[in-house]
Amino acid sequence: MNASAKPILVIGGGIAGMTAAVEAAEVGYHVILVEKEAYLGGRVMRTHRYFPKMCPPTCGFEINVRRIRQNPRIAIHTMATLESITPKARNFRAIIKVRPRYVTGEYSIDESLAEQMTSEREDDFNLGMAKTKALYMPHPMAYPHTYVLDREALSDEDAAKLRESSPAGAIDLDMREDEIEVDVGAVIVATGWRPYDAVKLDNLGFGQYQDVITNVIMERIAAPTGPTGGEIIRPSDGKKAENVAFVQCAGSRDDNHLPYCSAVCCMGSLKQVRYLREKNENARATIFYIDIRTTGRLEKFYYDLLEDEHVTFIKGKAAEIHKDSGNGDLTVDVEDTISGDNLHQKFDMVVLATGIVPNLADLKLPIDLKYDEYGFIDGSTGIEGVYAAGCAGHPCDVSRATKDSTAAVMKAVQYLNGGE
Ligand SMILES: Cc1cc2nc3c(=O)[nH]c(=O)nc-3n(C[C@H](O)[C@H](O)[C@H](O)COP(=O)(O)OP(=O)(O)OC[C@H]3O[C@@H](n4cnc5c(N)ncnc54)[C@H](O)[C@@H]3O)c2cc1C
Repeated sequence: MNASAKPILVIGGGIAGMTAAVEAAEVGYHVILVEKEAYLGGRVMRTHRYFPKMCPPTCGFEINVRRIRQNPRIAIHTMATLESITPKARNFRAIIKVRPRYVTGEYSIDESLAEQMTSEREDDFNLGMAKTKALYMPHPMAYPHTYVLDREALSDEDAAKLRESSPAGAIDLDMREDEIEVDVGAVIVATGWRPYDAVKLDNLGFGQYQDVITNVIMERIAAPTGPTGGEIIRPSDGKKAENVAFVQCAGSRDDNHLPYCSAVCCMGSLKQVRYLREKNENARATIFYIDIRTTGRLEKFYYDLLEDEHVTFIKGKAAEIHKDSGNGDLTVDVEDTISGDNLHQKFDMVVLATGIVPNLADLKLPIDLKYDEYGFIDGSTGIEGVYAAGCAGHPCDVSRATKDSTAAVMKAVQYLNGGE
């Protein structure tokens, strides 16, 4: 390790960014980790459980948090983004903008203080399906485990309550945006993904029918920490979902939407079928697919489900979803490409497996990187010393994202030591 090496800047604190941070710090490099949300963990934290082991996302997360806590070489900035970055001969001068949290984190805040608030905000962790108080913990396992205050949502009355009742120094209602200037020697971009906007799939009824949901919504509904306490129920009437369709490639592998395969949606849906079947032994699931893509050891997960009599696989791309006026059931119109039959099957809920769009597709970083036509940084970033990891580079699962991160750290270390 080069003792005089400058720190590595990691942009994005999802599983890819956290892995890059701990890997680099554990071989002796200083790391500055910048995350735009108030907590680390990224999209994985919003899943109920993750394949293939079906463990809760907190498992691997807690190990990473422990590694971060034990390592003084990692500096974390949450609610932070990169304002500017100037590359100059093995040195990048970066300005990081930190939004005010209004909670200093220096004193613990009692839950009852948040409970006293009457002002509320949309719970973005639960995709707007619930509300939180204006003073809120982003989610039960949030790291850093520090409250956030939504100043815009806070009423004058609640602001007065906070002034009176919060411990001195715990809340600063006048906190301002901060700017931090740092010199770093290499950069890892781990800015991740967002789901494809299902509203654009106008034949599939999302946004039109409440009981057409997406795979990311299903993750929150199935999670005990989610808006339904883990009950898989139809949003329209709270009835237990017993007969659920899973529509694969909702917008993916489609030239009008996302021409590429998002690599994880098949496994995502198979996993969600397991959520449904484990919670309700009478529930039935039907999966409409073009191809089931479960490579390597993931194939077993698929084969196990093929044994389940309550699970049906139909090869065909859903053409249209509409709603019966009577009982509110949804009908999926599809051509079964094996039998050649045109099917019109009824369900009480439909889950659209929407694909992965890189966050950088429209929200570019303030540095001139080389993107592919979809906004991923697959391969070279076009700037020496800058490397991509995880879904910033391509759609991938956690296992692949973490391997990418280790590889990106290796490249960064080589660069810091005079390589290219
Ligand atoms: C429905 C569904 C279910 C899935 N289930 C599984 C599963 O069970 N098992 C599995 O292995 N994989 C699963 N995946 C895939 C998994 O979500 C990804 O592999 C994982 O999220 C990739 O991590 P990442 O760090 O690259 O991206 P992300 O999780 O998106 O993290 C990126 C982080 O960067 C932050 N960020 C973004 N832009 C900026 C910026 N400009 N500045 C600072 N920070 C920024 C974000 O806030 C976020 O915290 C699933 C995917 C889907 C769609």
